[in-house]
Amino acid sequence: MRVVIIGGSHAGIACAESLRQNGYDGQITIIERLGGLPLERPPLSKAFLAADPDDESRFALRNKDWYANHDITLKTGVEVAAIDAGSRSVSLADGEALSYDRLVLATGATPRRLGGLDAMSGVYELRHPEDARSIRDAATNAASAVIVGGGYIGLEVAASLTKTGVNVAVFEAADRLLARVASPPISDFFTTLHSDAGVDLHIGSHVADFINDKGAFAGVTTANGKTLSADMLVVGIGVAPETGLAEMAGCAIGNGILVGSDMATNVDGIYAIGDGALVQTDGTDAIGGEAAVHIGAGIRIESVHNAQDSGERAAAAINGHAPPSRQAPWFWSEQYDARLQSAGLVPPPDDDTVFVRRPGKRETGFSVWSLKGGMLYAVEAVRDPAGYMLGKTCLERGLTPDAAQLADPAFDLKAFVAG
Ligand code: NAP
Repeated sequence: MRVVIIGGSHAGIACAESLRQNGYDGQITIIERLGGLPLERPPLSKAFLAADPDDESRFALRNKDWYANHDITLKTGVEVAAIDAGSRSVSLADGEALSYDRLVLATGATPRRLGGLDAMSGVYELRHPEDARSIRDAATNAASAVIVGGGYIGLEVAASLTKTGVNVAVFEAADRLLARVASPPISDFFTTLHSDAGVDLHIGSHVADFINDKGAFAGVTTANGKTLSADMLVVGIGVAPETGLAEMAGCAIGNGILVGSDMATNVDGIYAIGDGALVQTDGTDAIGGEAAVHIGAGIRIESVHNAQDSGERAAAAINGHAPPSRQAPWFWSEQYDARLQSAGLVPPPDDDTVFVRRPGKRETGFSVWSLKGGMLYAVEAVRDPAGYMLGKTCLERGLTPDAAQLADPAFDLKAFVAG
């Protein structure tokens, strides 16, 4: 039996590791188009940007020996050119063909691009280690930067560049930062944090024009006609799932590669995991009973937790084991001295939704609890790991403290969760 995994990032490696942990003793081959040892992605917008270029091995997802010790063949720097689902084979761009019994697509997502910038130097996106290296190199000679997009990429890069002394301006099209992923109080917190650090925030604002000086990016014109000179541009406006190979193999596609809760696609023997997979279930097998629908079913989640979880889920299905127990989706962000931890999925603000701010143990710590229709959907905690853990536990047990209790610092949340 041979499992071939296309994509050697968090999801693909988690799947390979989980196959071995579950006792699978057949062949495992991971094919990754980027060269070198696969690196962790979360530090790319943070510590990696300030790291010594000669000291990148500390960001390796697994060290070289790990692959040998787990009898996993890692082929990097080679692209998959085609999949033939009928004969269960994969053709590589270097001419090699590999047969498989089970194929796992961990092909991830690609950054969205802005039109008209292709021919300009000084323009960057951030997805892969090579992108982060380019941003790091450019920042050493830059006095100023424009960032388009006030999501996690945009804000984490803004914090990293500001810390190195670069003057940063951020343009976010929505009416608040992190609008797609965070509650309004958390957006407000990060707005203040970045303003206080000196970032020039343009919220609810598009860049009207990009200034091209002899083929190099030189600044932007704002919607109200102001010119802002800058030495480099970073674009972080979201990602689109990589579905090309899946389509070629005959997999059903929506806003991602469509899979069931076992990560199996509609094509026999093919699974999809990670940022590119979209789980389609009625939610009844997820945690929290009816709350399940708002913790993942039908939504493509782009996070390390989802990469790990979906990789383990596909491995369990391939091995014929029971799936791992469900956790609420979680992720974290670090900007300046603030660490945000989030569990659950924040609902968009509407008349049925309240966001309750609860003080944390530390003076500057707090958590925001999102309740929709009286039910807990998400907890976001800033400098408040205890608030985060209690919130995550509530989500996983289907518990919802009421809004008044949450807002009361004297309310014993720990006892509520324990009881
Ligand atoms: P994102 O979370 O989708 O944020 C992109 C933001 O850019 C959105 O608010 C979007 O607004 C805005 N935008 C889109 N077009 C724009 C334009 N022309 N001008 C100005 N703003 C524009 O995506 P991302 O920040 O690029 O991150 C990519 C992925 O990596 C995401 O999945 C993200 O969660 C993940 N990531 C996670 C972490 C973490 O967990 N700490 C860190 C880095 C990256 P609209 O929504 O209105 O289009």
